[in-house]
Amino acid sequence: MNYIIGIDMGGTWLRIAIANLDYKIINKAYIKMKELLESPSIIDSLEKIIRKFAGDRINEVIEIGFAAAGKLDLNKMLIVFSPNSSLRNLSLSPLEEKLKKPIKLINDGVAAALAEWKIGSGVNHDNFVYVNIGSGIGGGIIVDEHLLIGKEGNAHEFGHMIIDIHGTLVCRCGGRGHWEAYTSGNGLLNYCSFLAKSFEIRTEFLNKVLSGNFTSREVFEYARIGDEFAYYVVKEANRLNGIGLANLINLYDPSIISMGGSVVINNIDMIINPLRFYIKELSFNTPPDIVPSKLGENAPLIGAMIFAREYNEF
Ligand SMILES: [Zn+2]
Repeated sequence: MNYIIGIDMGGTWLRIAIANLDYKIINKAYIKMKELLESPSIIDSLEKIIRKFAGDRINEVIEIGFAAAGKLDLNKMLIVFSPNSSLRNLSLSPLEEKLKKPIKLINDGVAAALAEWKIGSGVNHDNFVYVNIGSGIGGGIIVDEHLLIGKEGNAHEFGHMIIDIHGTLVCRCGGRGHWEAYTSGNGLLNYCSFLAKSFEIRTEFLNKVLSGNFTSREVFEYARIGDEFAYYVVKEANRLNGIGLANLINLYDPSIISMGGSVVINNIDMIINPLRFYIKELSFNTPPDIVPSKLGENAPLIGAMIFAREYNEF
């Protein structure tokens, strides 16, 4: 029997899965990125992790799909840098040589988009946009049944799209006014602090923000129980998300947008419905429906496997 391995390297977790050739996941494991980044050789550690995880099946693994967050250079099999970790210029070529298995690198958001398009929320849509709002904002785009890749593999970095011409907030990449600096899990913290400065009603959540001790999850929890400041932040965040989505709709004319990532999946009621309203207001092109991701956290793993198996030109 033949197997494929999928790896998803994010800011906090490295996830690894093994599947049969129908992309049915047989086993999955999580490793803390901190452990990997602190090891003397990341490539040696990755080799060990893969061999240990696959066990006896390693000889039957025919390909490895590697999804990674951050800026990539697919021509050089290189993870150039990731705004959410200390990783810099990691080449996967030595790993390929050590394991003697073909490895294909792809951005994690693009991998998730590919999986959602092939077997998830985007099936039967030739024009499909997947937006992931987690610690950052990313995703992938399919236009006329074609997965967009770009010259180095970064044709989807819409989290770094400039949505604020005044560049009020600084993104983790160093740029100003980028979408993810405002409404991603990390960005929302800075956005709350910024909005708190001019909000005139003292609420419980506003006090928490001013004390500096709060989480992005609490924004939605407080909004749900009627805190006026938290509700205002969610409303402003949705308006900015609406601007981001409207830009994507005008660029790519998708027939459906799928949304995933922890911020969306934990707050579907407070994000997807309002966004349906905002994209009607803001987009020039006919607004498509917005649906939640079907594959959840497995999307990047499965997408990396599909990319490894079906995209031989890379
Ligand atoms: Zn940025």
